[in-house]
Amino acid sequence: MRFPFALTKKIASHIIKHKLRKTPKFAMVLQLEPLHTCNLTCTGCGRIREYSTSLKDMVPLEQCLQAAIECDAPMVSICGGEPLIYPKIEELIAGLLEQGRVLYICTNGMFMRKKMRDYLAAIYSPALEPKLKKLLDGKLITDKEAEVIRKSDDAAKKKVVIRPTQWMYWNVHVDGLEFTHDLIVEREGVFKECVEAIKMAKICGYQVATNTTVYRETDVAEIEDMFKYLSSLEVDGHTISPGYDYDAAKKDMVSRLGKDPKQFFLTRDMTRQKFAKIQDWGKAFTIFGTPVYQEFLAGKRELTCTAWAIPTYNVKGWKAPCYLMTDGHYAGYQEMLTKVQWEKYGVVNGVARDPRCEHCMVHCGYDPSGALGTNYQSGDNWKNFKYNFGAKPKPYPSSPELAKRAFNGATIGKGHLAEAKAIINSPAAGARGAFSHKEEEHNHNGTAHEAHVGSHCGTGDTSERDELLAKIKDVKKAE
Ligand code: SF4
Ligand code: SF4
Repeated sequence: MRFPFALTKKIASHIIKHKLRKTPKFAMVLQLEPLHTCNLTCTGCGRIREYSTSLKDMVPLEQCLQAAIECDAPMVSICGGEPLIYPKIEELIAGLLEQGRVLYICTNGMFMRKKMRDYLAAIYSPALEPKLKKLLDGKLITDKEAEVIRKSDDAAKKKVVIRPTQWMYWNVHVDGLEFTHDLIVEREGVFKECVEAIKMAKICGYQVATNTTVYRETDVAEIEDMFKYLSSLEVDGHTISPGYDYDAAKKDMVSRLGKDPKQFFLTRDMTRQKFAKIQDWGKAFTIFGTPVYQEFLAGKRELTCTAWAIPTYNVKGWKAPCYLMTDGHYAGYQEMLTKVQWEKYGVVNGVARDPRCEHCMVHCGYDPSGALGTNYQSGDNWKNFKYNFGAKPKPYPSSPELAKRAFNGATIGKGHLAEAKAIINSPAAGARGAFSHKEEEHNHNGTAHEAHVGSHCGTGDTSERDELLAKIKDVKKAE
């Protein structure tokens, strides 16, 4: 089966229950942001911008658990910020699992190995030695770390840890191969760390997914190569979504000065071009997301936004109307469902009900529409059934050539940030440096960019990433 049976059954039962009860709106995935603090400062990150004044705030553990009970989504995506910084992350995961939720821990990957070492220390017995040897051989832990695991004391054994289970996925943020990813996250070595964390997770028995956002300037061939490489690591699934941000100033330039929207936005047409091969990817790789949503991305059908099905809860409350756009925060999920005028959002038959929604095709608005049967077409249920219950694509064969293509940055001496910044900020690469304007645009007043893209941790200003990716392309061409 493409996805674990128990998981598919849980989600299907939730939908059937609400369909039978005729519940008009209900939650499928809770995007839980216990904090917005992060150890990275990625180019164009939406969360560290929008919530800059509350970066130090955290949602108390009990409140997080209560939010999950309140909306009762069968799946919870713990995002942020970097959720592994949340001091009670282990307790949060344990509590949500106890509630019977399917969990996705959306992470930039930097603290995963530490958390997995804690787990190994908690369960250590000599029987674990073959596993430790594998990790040591793969240079995924050091000799010193192995010793700490072996000598774990009572406190380490009693610690609440993140254990592998069929109900949980690590969901690692990867936006390209090494050169591109490290530049986007603005730190050398992050891609390598993600890969090592993925390898360690697989050896330790965890399920691992990845999360990728496609921008206007994303090189689709690179994304395909990235899927091949990640699949060769036996990653269990991939979420991929177009990035989207709405900028009133740019929109104004388009309408007043007759500029081409393509210059500024990942328009729907462009998204469809980028995702032209999504259905082939869905066959070759374990892509999360319904085949109906894949048809929508490929331009083969229309869908209506069901943002209420993927609500976001964070330090300010329930964020409405969606993960991307903030028109308000509410104290309760039901209150948000009742008070938000949902009919004002989304695109229906090609007409945007809110101008900010015009080009949006992001998964947090439209993927649930595919599962919920909004815009149902005959045969959709069968398609979804066939996709979920069909054979899981085989891992892509690993090869030194594939690994060489993946590690095309710092590992081979390219992409050292200082060097990369120098090249990208050089006059030849454009007058405006991709890195130089970061601070200037971080005004955090919430007005400069009215909508934010929905990657795992809210990349917000897609134009910053597009500018960066365009320059990467120029650099590659010049090589
Ligand atoms: S995009 Fe995610 S990983 Fe990057 S700074 Fe923002 S919250 Fe952190
Ligand atoms: S921005 Fe996208 S997800 Fe949000 S309400 Fe509009 S169409 Fe829906």
